Amino acid sequence: MADVRDVIIIGSGPAGLTAAIYTARANLSPLLIEGEPSSSSDQPGGQLMLTTEVENFPGFPDGIMGPDLMANMRAQAQRFGTEIITEKVTRVDFSQRPFGVWIRDDEYRANAVIVSTGAQSLMLGLEAEQRLIGHGLSTCATCDGFFFRGHEIAVVGGGDSAIEEATFLTKFADKVTIVHRRDELRASKIMQDRAFANPKIEFAWNAQVTEVFGETSVTGVELTSTVDGSVSTLPVTGLFVAIGHRPNTDLFVDQLDLDPTTGYLVTKPDSSYTDVDGVFACGDVQDDVYRQAITAAGSGCMAAIDAERWLEANVH
Ligand code: NAP
Repeated sequence: MADVRDVIIIGSGPAGLTAAIYTARANLSPLLIEGEPSSSSDQPGGQLMLTTEVENFPGFPDGIMGPDLMANMRAQAQRFGTEIITEKVTRVDFSQRPFGVWIRDDEYRANAVIVSTGAQSLMLGLEAEQRLIGHGLSTCATCDGFFFRGHEIAVVGGGDSAIEEATFLTKFADKVTIVHRRDELRASKIMQDRAFANPKIEFAWNAQVTEVFGETSVTGVELTSTVDGSVSTLPVTGLFVAIGHRPNTDLFVDQLDLDPTTGYLVTKPDSSYTDVDGVFACGDVQDDVYRQAITAAGSGCMAAIDAERWLEANVH
């Protein structure tokens, strides 16, 4: 069996890197398995690698670019001795301790594991999305709404997220068009009523966004009717894709308790404890409500403290 470490952290967004900083400073010599650069969903650094300017992370009064923020957190984790492997975990075994974590055939063992594999925003699958994300195309109104003061923008989706984001965005934008592929919303009645009553919100029913125009920033979207296939152009300078999120939990099926509807990891209230003693979870993989870098970082701190205290009580 491989050497047994105190802590392995899986995932390197703000949650995982904060857990690394805290566990490293607690002398737990964490191993952080950060993901694979070539992967669009498991890239080291997580979703902030797909953003440009971050203006709401405390401590940066002039803002900071998402990738720079992650590079800073990574350097801070390394400064205190975090060992980092730039690979993707391929299998875990949490059925016995020490827990097993594999990268293909390489086996790693630890008394505690912190899971921080994050989540992904579902995207439309258009080539332009990769080019324009952070340049007028966004998946987070809370993060980016401020940049759209006075703009005319579109939101794709018909669920609670889309309606909530559209309503929030009317604080900034002059006009928000909700593009939905059907002629009725999935969102709850109260959210629908709020949107219908908002004079800044318009609807493009039975429509799919089939192209996003613009080389360096969004200049418009192509709408294709889901009824008769007719094509039109909506001139907008911002597009928010709000068609749902997917937590990165495939590794943990049959290992950890997952919410049966959403697939998110279940943690015990007010803690990072999962249903397996010694396995902790933090960040977006267990949070389908707040989804912010700062809340992820905060929960990473919680997981590190929970793991440290658990190791003290059960192993050391
Ligand atoms: P959701 O409920 O799954 O809705 C996704 C929406 O996107 C649906 O309207 C769906 O259309 C549309 N969609 C999916 N794939 C699409 C595609 N490829 N192209 C175009 N449209 C597409 O997701 P959500 O709105 O993120 O909500 C997730 C969960 O969080 C829900 O349980 C929701 O109630 C909850 N939530 C609650 C609140 C709140 O209460 N304040 C806020 C946000 C989210 P169809 O309708 O045609 O399937």
